[in-house]
Amino acid sequence: MPRTKADTPAKPVKLRVRKGDIVEVISGKDAGKRGEIIAAHPRENKVTVKGLNIVIKHQKDRPNRKPGATGPEQVIKGGRIEKEAPLYASKVMLVCPNCQRPTRVGYAYKEGTEKLSRRKYRVCKHPDCGKPID
Ligand SMILES: [Zn+2]
Repeated sequence: MPRTKADTPAKPVKLRVRKGDIVEVISGKDAGKRGEIIAAHPRENKVTVKGLNIVIKHQKDRPNRKPGATGPEQVIKGGRIEKEAPLYASKVMLVCPNCQRPTRVGYAYKEGTEKLSRRKYRVCKHPDCGKPID
């Protein structure tokens, strides 16, 4: 079968945010809210933020078909299930842990004479802060 554009995963992008970061949403229904990233999806350029971009799934009751289960049929209760949906990484901004403001992310290198001791780290882009983020 010929591969369509949709089956081909986009090249993973390097996200400027990662799991555990606090971010502020800058657009969409949750604009202005903050939350912690609980999952990053570089392949889709998306992140999942705890408690934000909640979608309600309507799940039907369905039988629990465990192998070897006997007796009365057990049912996994359905209903309205609230779940965080991933949102585009471009819709969130990293909140600087030093100045507590949403910031753009810059990169800097740790001092080191050896090539391998140079390590990239993120910095706050606010001119009056400029502190390393991690
Ligand atoms: Zn800062």
